[in-house]
Amino acid sequence: MKIICVGRNYVDHIKELNNKKPKEPVLFLKPQTAIINKGQPFFIPSFSKEIHYELEIIVRINRLGKFIKRKFSHKYYEEIGLGIDFTARDLQLELKNNGLPWEKAKAFDGSCLIGKWKNKKDFDNIDNIDFRLTKNNEIVQNSNTSLMLWKVDELIEYISKFFTLKTGDVIFTGTPSGVGKVQLNDNLKGYMNDHELLSINIK
Ligand code: ZN
Repeated sequence: MKIICVGRNYVDHIKELNNKKPKEPVLFLKPQTAIINKGQPFFIPSFSKEIHYELEIIVRINRLGKFIKRKFSHKYYEEIGLGIDFTARDLQLELKNNGLPWEKAKAFDGSCLIGKWKNKKDFDNIDNIDFRLTKNNEIVQNSNTSLMLWKVDELIEYISKFFTLKTGDVIFTGTPSGVGKVQLNDNLKGYMNDHELLSINIK
């Protein structure tokens, strides 16, 4: 399986990192080895002094697809959830400034947390879901899927032009504002409409 991530999909987050609003979705990949095993903490890697959390809405692909039309995108996923795209922001900034690919900052071992899945039928409208992240029980990110520049179905159409989607692939749909640094012994919890879908300790 592979993990396809979308960057710069919320205007408020684009502003906080002083990025330009893109004309098309920004895509990057994480390998399967980036996934944190169930119940494990996030270990701060030695190569970064500034690891950021990015809470994101995620969907799991349930069938093979290529060149998927937007109107059929909904057939390609049944489960929706929350994930954290852990980012070595210091390293990413250095790579960006040098025009280099982001993989070392975004795709390292342990950079991908996948929370519990919900069936999308549990929601009236997946383009209107509240979600939030708490750090040590204080809300640090709080948003709604209606604020995405490109909605899930549009992303599936766009992504599948470049990458064949396979059963089990996971799409990270981008983070809203409020990203920030993690520190030793922090605890992060993610909620979708008040359901706790993830909890992780930082070590
Ligand atoms: Zn992200």
